[in-house]
Amino acid sequence: MTLVPRYLVAFHPKRVSHHFVDALVIGGGIAGLRATMALDPRLTTLVVTKDQLEESNSNYAQGGIAGVLGADDRFEDHIADTLSAGAGLCDREIVEMVVREAPGHIRQLMEWGATFDESEGELLLGREGGHSHNRIVHALGDATGQEIIRAMIARARKVQSAQIWPDTFTIDLLTHEGRCRGALVWNERHGKTYVWAKQTILATGGAGQIFRETTNPPVATGDGHAAAYRAGAELMDMEFMQFHPTVLYIAGSSRSLISEAVRGEGAILVDAAGVRFMPEYDARAELAPRDVVSQAIVDRMEKTHHPCVYLDLSALPADAVRKRFPGIAKRCREFGIDIAVDRIPVRPGAHYMIGGVKVDEWGSTTIPGLWAVGEVTSSGLHGANRLASNSLLEGLVFGARAGEAVSAAALEQPDEYIPLPIENKPVEPPSEQLDLQDIRNSLKSLVWRAAGVRRTATSLRDAARTLDGWDRYVLAQQFPTSQGWELQNMLIVSRVMINAALRREESRGVHLRMDFPQQDDAKWKIRCGDVRPSS
Ligand SMILES: Cc1cc2nc3c(=O)[nH]c(=O)nc-3n(C[C@H](O)[C@H](O)[C@H](O)COP(=O)(O)OP(=O)(O)OC[C@H]3O[C@@H](n4cnc5c(N)ncnc54)[C@H](O)[C@@H]3O)c2cc1C
Repeated sequence: MTLVPRYLVAFHPKRVSHHFVDALVIGGGIAGLRATMALDPRLTTLVVTKDQLEESNSNYAQGGIAGVLGADDRFEDHIADTLSAGAGLCDREIVEMVVREAPGHIRQLMEWGATFDESEGELLLGREGGHSHNRIVHALGDATGQEIIRAMIARARKVQSAQIWPDTFTIDLLTHEGRCRGALVWNERHGKTYVWAKQTILATGGAGQIFRETTNPPVATGDGHAAAYRAGAELMDMEFMQFHPTVLYIAGSSRSLISEAVRGEGAILVDAAGVRFMPEYDARAELAPRDVVSQAIVDRMEKTHHPCVYLDLSALPADAVRKRFPGIAKRCREFGIDIAVDRIPVRPGAHYMIGGVKVDEWGSTTIPGLWAVGEVTSSGLHGANRLASNSLLEGLVFGARAGEAVSAAALEQPDEYIPLPIENKPVEPPSEQLDLQDIRNSLKSLVWRAAGVRRTATSLRDAARTLDGWDRYVLAQQFPTSQGWELQNMLIVSRVMINAALRREESRGVHLRMDFPQQDDAKWKIRCGDVRPSS
């Protein structure tokens, strides 16, 4: 691990251009956008996104946002469901705060123009695994994220003066004398640029791309996790990656998510022989929490020697199914599957990164001047397993809070337009060019095998040894493009995750150790952190 460099590329204040802002927001998903909207308009703000602004995990969210809105629902029930899913590791105060703030944020999204599905003027509230009540608001049937992001971008463009730089890769966070001072970014227009910021908000989303099977889009390579780690921020709960149980498994298709809401509406899971199996594993059957369903599916796949199981919606009214899930119906139709009639082949895939940069209730990290919000964080909300539809909510709550806190901090700081003496020296380029795609594919397969749904000390240790070899020649280099930086970030995040998974010698929530199958409260009812060792 001491191989991890502080900075990925060479840069020097005399050779790289400079840009000064009050607040830098890295990431334009729900958390970054919500933070931006909470920033005081007197501040100059820059939002950078790696791809187009619309391309984020947020945009692909299907099921919806959880919040207590139904007449028979209570905050205490949403809190209890979240704590129960989190398997003893949630921070109760954070859970209470997020759950109580949820309805206000959902109503605010509606004021900003997000249209959620209704019937006769009432919000339609869906149900997902682990929830005791119907409390999930959704939009366009199964395209909730797309509708929220559309409304938030429109609102931000109308009322916010923030500058937005799309297609801008954040390579590293800049630190000086123990404070975060902004970030080194790269885009085709300006090349490398120092963005000096009084306050920096990290909102870079998840890391699903380190796994071969994942629901996450290509942007989710854990860049923010890795950059924060290199900068010395504490990461937490890094062993906890949530696997979504039902990811479309068709050769040649992208690994599309088949929302939990499908099971909420009554779909059942059957094995290759057509046998419904979930009741054998959990009394809640198909609506058990995701870890339980994922682990049951893997077990069933092994017992039936079959590479997937199937979702069966055939007992539900066909027209209602196609209307409720238009996106999923369309995607499956492209592969000749009618979701109302045919069984849908599915298996688990990496879905939500629970671990991340340690933050408090305002999104403050362990580095002064650096804040973090959304999926890149570990706030204590999810514990050892995230309750479905609590993550868009987390992005809203923490985004708004961090935006407020950053405004207060930045408004107090005087303007200074002096670049700090932060530089990184070039290293000798190697004589042989690496096939980066080949290493990336091998890494994804390795992490899927070793740190997927089932883990053992042997598989994790073997993976760590393989990573040692790759680290020696990949982390030592300075690459000129984002393909290399992403690979380096993925290697670092994989390593931290594998070490954390090895350390936790028990099974809890999404972390299943086949060699330690029991939950061990006496020893492991604690959250664990990781900090980059100084080299
Ligand atoms: C298919 C799918 C369905 C889901 N369904 C639901 C659901 O129904 N309900 C729910 O609550 N959650 C759901 N989730 C999870 C939820 O969508 C995410 O947890 C949440 O959207 C994360 O928001 P975020 O703002 O933290 O990150 P994201 O939305 O992922 O945004 C990350 C941003 O960071 C930028 N970025 C990343 N790296 C860099 C870099 N190096 N430089 C510059 N910018 C960078 C990206 O360009 C992007 O703008 C789903 C996730 C997926 C993948």
